[in-house]
Amino acid sequence: MNKTFLLCFHDKKYLQKFLKDLSCDYALNNYEAYSKLIAKEYNAVFISEEFLLNNKFFISVFVKEICSSKPPLIVISENYYFLPDLISVPESDLPKVLSSFTEEFLEPVRHNESDVFQNLIAHMEELFLNKYFYDMILKGLESLDQCFLKIIEVVDVVLLPELFVIGRVTKGKTEYFVSLNNRLSNDIIKKILAGYKLAKGKLILRNEFNIKGKHTDISDLDFFVKKNILTDETIFTVIGIKKSDASGNNKKLANSLQNRIKATVFYMSSLLKRQRMYITDYLTGVYNRRFFDETVKKELHRSKRHRKGFVVIFFDIDNFKDINDKYGHSAGDHILTSLTSHIQTLIRDSDIFARLGGEEFGILLPETEADGGQLLAEKIRREVAVKTFTFESSKINLTISAGVLAVKNFEDADYDRIYKMSDDAMYEAKRLGKNGLVVSEI
Ligand code: GH3
Ligand code: MG
Ligand code: MG
Repeated sequence: MNKTFLLCFHDKKYLQKFLKDLSCDYALNNYEAYSKLIAKEYNAVFISEEFLLNNKFFISVFVKEICSSKPPLIVISENYYFLPDLISVPESDLPKVLSSFTEEFLEPVRHNESDVFQNLIAHMEELFLNKYFYDMILKGLESLDQCFLKIIEVVDVVLLPELFVIGRVTKGKTEYFVSLNNRLSNDIIKKILAGYKLAKGKLILRNEFNIKGKHTDISDLDFFVKKNILTDETIFTVIGIKKSDASGNNKKLANSLQNRIKATVFYMSSLLKRQRMYITDYLTGVYNRRFFDETVKKELHRSKRHRKGFVVIFFDIDNFKDINDKYGHSAGDHILTSLTSHIQTLIRDSDIFARLGGEEFGILLPETEADGGQLLAEKIRREVAVKTFTFESSKINLTISAGVLAVKNFEDADYDRIYKMSDDAMYEAKRLGKNGLVVSEI
């Protein structure tokens, strides 16, 4: 009996090695993998590590809802992945594993399309509300935008709509996230949205993958439109399905998806609010020490891969106690907030600015060398020294002392050393008479 395997890879060249005598099908993206699996019987599915990492969300859905261990799903990797029913096999063991699959009798498995749909729909909410999003969002690893793209990924696979758009209006700004598989050009999408009075204000289409769109006659499509007003934002969903496909089943599906998307977005928005609180300093609105520490650790990790250094600046307001004593605590608070908002205008979006405690701050400058770090620290020092802060009728001047640490030898650096050396440099600047900076390197 002829055995057939499905191989899921990104890189076609990588496939050649496994081709030889086996009867294999290939899928280069998750939609192909999904449609092949429900269209044909396979004895096993092999996934490259890269494919898994790029489609982790999809795979976790896929494993849980579609495969449930049949046919066996195998990732070619040295690493163990904590996904149910996913087996890790190192590349060196692959010939052995393949031959055992070819010798043994394995029942080929094909999935029934409507069963798969039903499973996915039934679990959609649980899926979106699962720990994946919770962890990602709370740790600041994913924004709502990235979650929208994940929702789109799932809807694309389940429904393969001609058009799928999630629109979000926050504070008068409208953004539309458009499906990867959409068959329409941006101009047509804009016309459709305008037809439903959904496109007010500036329209930002977030479909980085699809630029031109394909040609589908929109008169062939049925549109399902839903508008939901959540606490402080409005979410639209527009699903376009070919009339010939828009059987009763698809209509039900579109409706049920839209309801679940609403629930999901609501949940995600509230998570995002919690996330902001979790990583933000309550007084100044800049990041807090928790986020700064985590980000420096991540940057250290990243720099080991990219071989690019980074800079950490610590600074502290000089004689702040005297200011509090002389002008009062409210004046001190006012200075802390106006100082931070001024400094935010001096740094780049990619820099991480945090209040580390009291009147002490940290700035992380990713992919930056000592010179760049020194330049910025000096600029901040100078600007603060010449600025006059006004509180009620008092005019207040102040200075800061800064330590600049350039991290070059990432192999030797760990977070504790980075923290201590930045702190030492800052205290050295204090010792040298304040209103100055000291640069050091690791
Ligand atoms: P140095 O130049 O050595 O840094 O002296 P300093 O007076 O700035 O440092 P010290 O550590 O002696 O005092 C820090 C002061 O900062 C004491 C504390 O009351 C004040 N402070 C800390 N957090 C806040 C805050 O949130 N609001 C206000 N108003 N003051 C604060
Ligand atoms: Mg101080
Ligand atoms: Mg201090």
